[in-house]
Amino acid sequence: MSRNAPTIDAQRLSLILNDLRLPAIKLVWSDFTTRADKEGWPGARLLAALAEHEIAERDRRRIERHLGEARLPPGKTLDSFAFDAVPMISRAQVTALCSGDGWLEKGANLILFGPPGGGKTHLAAAIGLALIENGWRVLFARTSDLVQKLQVARRELALEAAIAKLDKYHLLVLDDLAYVTKDQAETSVLFELISARYERRSTLITANQPFGEWNRVFPDPAMTLAAVDRLVHHATIFEMNVESYRRRSALQRQSRAGRPPTFATIKSSGELSHSDNQTPE
Ligand code: ADP
Ligand code: MG
Repeated sequence: MSRNAPTIDAQRLSLILNDLRLPAIKLVWSDFTTRADKEGWPGARLLAALAEHEIAERDRRRIERHLGEARLPPGKTLDSFAFDAVPMISRAQVTALCSGDGWLEKGANLILFGPPGGGKTHLAAAIGLALIENGWRVLFARTSDLVQKLQVARRELALEAAIAKLDKYHLLVLDDLAYVTKDQAETSVLFELISARYERRSTLITANQPFGEWNRVFPDPAMTLAAVDRLVHHATIFEMNVESYRRRSALQRQSRAGRPPTFATIKSSGELSHSDNQTPE
């Protein structure tokens, strides 16, 4: 074998791989070529192995970047979501949505309704995470935070650009639509966002209140109607009318025999005063 070992300038090769933007190959070429020499791989096999490695690393780095930019709440995955707690939603249906195919290309929407604690934020984040793992780009935002940012942009006469910047996300999660405050509503940036994404880019909305209550969120009933119309035109709607998961699991813990009373009702009612229950009146 050593008879065939070429003498190459390893330093120069590293520089070239840098210039060619092939950092993964730069890291492994020496191991790969040593192994290829030892096992007598044909040249084409070595080249293919290196190329495959670079592309796999590229995908991994891209997904890592997309995860970083998405600002998903941590720890909310489909694996940790108890589907039996929301019998109206099937795991199969959610799994199908998580491929992204068939709805994200055409900018269709997903709307999750239900009382506080029913798992809307968890499910939205878990779907977002799964979509990113499948190669899509997602941004998760509390609706009132995003509205605030867009209002600042409007004041700086940069609303259109700010909305256009969100185009790069195949899915925009607007968590807790109902918590947009009335003074935030007055400038209707949310309506412009919804209109801009209509039939082009998907939006996932979670809300405690059904459409009938959305008049609080938009400046006038006509605008509410127009916003709802655009959102539901191509939409899947999940009605998650279940009892608070936190409350239910607290009660279950409480009733479980032999448990120390660490999870008694006092603690669970403390948990219930979570931000979910704040209403901006
Ligand atoms: P919502 O957004 O509807 O108010 P959350 O998604 O914030 O509810 O759920 C409240 C808490 O309960 C979170 O910690 C969430 O992870 C958990 N939770 C809710 N539903 C489920 C579920 N079906 N399986 C597992 N955890 C859940
Ligand atoms: Mg929530």
